[in-house]
Amino acid sequence: MTPYLLLTPGPLTTTASVKAAMQNDYSTWDDDYNAITQHLRTGLLRLAQASPDNYASVLIQGSGSFAVEATLQTAIPKTNACVLVGVNGAYGRRIVEMLEYLDIDHIAVVGSETQPLALADLEKIAQTHPELTHFAMIHCETTTGVLNPIETIVPAMRAHGLVTIIDAMSSFAGIPIATEMLGIDYLISSANKCLQGVPGFGFVIAKRSTIAQTQGNARSLSLDLFEQLACMEVYNGKWRFTSPTHVVLAAAQALDELVEEGGVAARYRRFRACQHMLATGMQELAFERIVAPADQSPIITSFAYPSEDFDFPAFYQALKARGFVIYPGKVAKLPSFRIGNIGDLDTTDIRALLAAIRVVQAELAVTV
Ligand SMILES: *Cc1c(COP(=O)(O)O)cnc(C)c1O
Repeated sequence: MTPYLLLTPGPLTTTASVKAAMQNDYSTWDDDYNAITQHLRTGLLRLAQASPDNYASVLIQGSGSFAVEATLQTAIPKTNACVLVGVNGAYGRRIVEMLEYLDIDHIAVVGSETQPLALADLEKIAQTHPELTHFAMIHCETTTGVLNPIETIVPAMRAHGLVTIIDAMSSFAGIPIATEMLGIDYLISSANKCLQGVPGFGFVIAKRSTIAQTQGNARSLSLDLFEQLACMEVYNGKWRFTSPTHVVLAAAQALDELVEEGGVAARYRRFRACQHMLATGMQELAFERIVAPADQSPIITSFAYPSEDFDFPAFYQALKARGFVIYPGKVAKLPSFRIGNIGDLDTTDIRALLAAIRVVQAELAVTV
């Protein structure tokens, strides 16, 4: 049994049935296993609101960052390419770092970490840089929990002829995303976030007409998204190289449970109810949010330290002893911590968490 509830951005608390699904050993060569992969690929397209005619899902071994890096270095040609990157947190910066490793030309538009990316700032650059070919941004910036407006930014960047790459790692399956309607070229996520599976692979919802033009772009054999897709398509769900079989079984079970819950819309409502209870409950305990409610995702919330001498390590340990694991902050100049509310949690768990925080807060006040 798990010793505590994970109130983190993933890996997160999974259901007993998702964990139980891993108690089987499948052959990666057999049709029965490949059928499970196909079931998952089809289901992910449906979650992304993308039709199988125009979109394909590609699964790739590794954590979410592997899928992001695979996408960048497959999508972007070796010559005559330049990427505009919207950055307002650590995951946006990670994309920039990947582009530097890959030696890909890019322009980063860096905004405030506590505010959504501003379309006007991106527009200004897109209008004056005809060398741009691609655009990349984060949907939910897990650094703070701020939600970036892909609904307005993606169509605007497409109007400039840019191929769009969206890191929806911590929002996919938890927030509805109209991938096809928005015309997103690459939408990236992983098994261990809002899908509520366990860590081990990432996936990309790719526009067929876009990825079809990327053969030979990849600078890495194992992270070649084009070849990974080609293998899955030609061999009916067969992975190139060893696949994380147990993780895939867990993800297939997690997908079925998401459908049973009522799909992404129902999960979004559950997350929103939890986040709302969390934010208002914390406010009553004098913990202030660092992101305005209108810009806040229903995934993870950042709280400023309530005082200069706030002892986060003691706070963390005391909560862990009571069965709740929270997350440190990541904002450079603002001491803060984060509480996630994705995973197999509901408002009963959040109520229990708030009760524990109240007790811990009183205890720590006495110690000081
Ligand atoms: C979790 C996350 C990632 C990937 O992180 P990994 O540790 O590689 O799984 C990328 N982008 C965002 C926005 C994330 O939340």
